[in-house]
Amino acid sequence: MLNKTLNAKLLWMQFEDVLAPRLGLTVWDRAVYSYLLRHSLVVGKLRLHFAVMSVARDLGLSNGPVRQAVRRLDELGALRLLERSKTGHLVEMRLPEQIRALRPGRNGASKAAEEPPASNLETTDFLKTWALRKTIHDRERGACFYCLRRTPANVQCLDHVVPRARFGRNSYRNLVSCCLECNTRKGDRPARDFLRTVYRLGRLTPAELDGRLRALQALAAGKLRPLLPSV
Ligand SMILES: [Zn+2]
Repeated sequence: MLNKTLNAKLLWMQFEDVLAPRLGLTVWDRAVYSYLLRHSLVVGKLRLHFAVMSVARDLGLSNGPVRQAVRRLDELGALRLLERSKTGHLVEMRLPEQIRALRPGRNGASKAAEEPPASNLETTDFLKTWALRKTIHDRERGACFYCLRRTPANVQCLDHVVPRARFGRNSYRNLVSCCLECNTRKGDRPARDFLRTVYRLGRLTPAELDGRLRALQALAAGKLRPLLPSV
């Protein structure tokens, strides 16, 4: 339960002026975040259990975009996905002011100074801040790690190669930048299997598949290091 009253005006302004533009939310992300917030924090509940189908029906969307939005909001830290089962999703919502990447004073250059030095690379949580997440996107140079398609910044996702549900970490060895479609299709499947599916769909040539499988090994071996902002 929340122990303070929400300031609706402030919340609305933070959502429209800070959260949506800074996190690069799509219209679907925005609709889903607003909807979930309305049924959780706005009525004093921290957590919300919901079925994707009902949210989709209420928002006039199909299930896919709602599922993708929930996944993206979780990745961006706007909510925390606690459980996913046949009966639905259990999430813990975050107000804009609680989203780590959006806290006051954390923008652009000032953020770079807070990043850990390269010696901490192995213990760094790369989902922690916007600047750290960007280093993973930059490492992939705007291409999806799985299908190699060029991916505009507003639809780039970070994907856990070993899913978080299976204790995958937020390490640079376990996070890749990918397109929304691959992020959704992969789900909790092992990355190697997923790459073979992408190949079967004709999105990768045999040589590219080979290259991607090797990249996966290099990633796990710590050879694909992102460039941390200088301190
Ligand atoms: Zn892709």
